Amino acid sequence: MKELSINRDRLWSHLSELGEIGAYHDEVADLVGVRRLALSDEDRAGRDRVVAWMRELGLSISIDEIGNIYAERAGRDASLSPVMFGSHVDSVPTGGRFDGALGVLGALEVVRTLNDAGEQTTRPLVVGAFTDEEGCRFGTDMLGSAVATGRIPLQQAYGLTDRDGLCIGDELERIGYKGKEPVNQRRPHAYVECHVEQGPTLIREGLDVGVVTMVQAISWHELTITGRSAHAGATPTSYRVDAGLAAARINVRLREMVDSGEFGELRATMGVNRPHPGMINVIPGRVIATVDMRNPDDDGMRRAEQALGRYIEELQEQTEGLRIALRRTARTDVVPFAEKVRSAVEGAANDRGLSNRRLFAGAGHDAQEWAHVCDAGMIFAPGEYDGISHNPREYSNEKQCGDSIDVLLDVVRRLAEDV
Ligand SMILES: [Zn+2]
Repeated sequence: MKELSINRDRLWSHLSELGEIGAYHDEVADLVGVRRLALSDEDRAGRDRVVAWMRELGLSISIDEIGNIYAERAGRDASLSPVMFGSHVDSVPTGGRFDGALGVLGALEVVRTLNDAGEQTTRPLVVGAFTDEEGCRFGTDMLGSAVATGRIPLQQAYGLTDRDGLCIGDELERIGYKGKEPVNQRRPHAYVECHVEQGPTLIREGLDVGVVTMVQAISWHELTITGRSAHAGATPTSYRVDAGLAAARINVRLREMVDSGEFGELRATMGVNRPHPGMINVIPGRVIATVDMRNPDDDGMRRAEQALGRYIEELQEQTEGLRIALRRTARTDVVPFAEKVRSAVEGAANDRGLSNRRLFAGAGHDAQEWAHVCDAGMIFAPGEYDGISHNPREYSNEKQCGDSIDVLLDVVRRLAEDV
């Protein structure tokens, strides 16, 4: 295969241009960030810009019922299933320029490079940009790809609402992206996604790219802890049923579980901890708290969930009057990526002399949904500042972006000849 490389300046200028859409001044960071919440006016503007670039490249565009954008480039053999690659255009409310954007604009740069070289692949190619990957507005992440691959029914997705009661179906219509293509039809030969790592591993180890092996398991729970609200001064300690204390104990226990090493590489976070009534001189009678657990090992995750359940029972037995209700709000097992894609990524990185390692994805990605219907895999680009992401400080430089998209180019070409 002839050696080809992307045009890094061109990729960089497109990243900068898309980064202007939804740009805002972040007061906490005192930096310019990106806010393109799913199905907002900014998301629409970002989508419009991306679709215009797709048209310039001569791609044929199709929008499905959940608003996913597909841009197709013909292969030599139209009877073969395509190689799909892409990511998402939406962002969190306080995001950066690279999360999602690198995968979509990198995919377009791959197509541009092939166009310039006059190269037609054997399999058709499809660039995908998927709806509401972040889940910040409507509460369900990877929504577009989950509907596209059949995990979430379309009507259920349409009915999801944001804080203002606006639903996905109506918002898709409003921004002009409620397409006609039926969902859950596309079955690509393979799916590849390039994404910023969003963590410190690659940058700390001085590596050029990451070969993603899997997405770790996720377990979310909401805890409703009910005790007894009473006067902070007049209630003797022995009479108290303090829901705030119970929440604190559970949080500490989670950290002890993590530190024990008994549950594999468990990560645990109590990201919400809301006491009621929330007064300085009132013992909290109720606490709403959340537990986010991640684990690259399914068995370790199951044992961690059981251990948390047992500890909660113990707490209730120890404290009369304390009740703790545990509600599971999300749960996915480990999603392994296909060895075929992993070794293609690794081989491409090695051939280019780029240092790399295998690592798992700490966050969720569209690729994990596509992994349910085809061979899927991911390439990680390192990020500065310990790979900070979902933050205006998020930054991967021209080389970091360019290296990872060169690998994407090689992997896509390789998979497109895999017949
Ligand atoms: Zn992302």
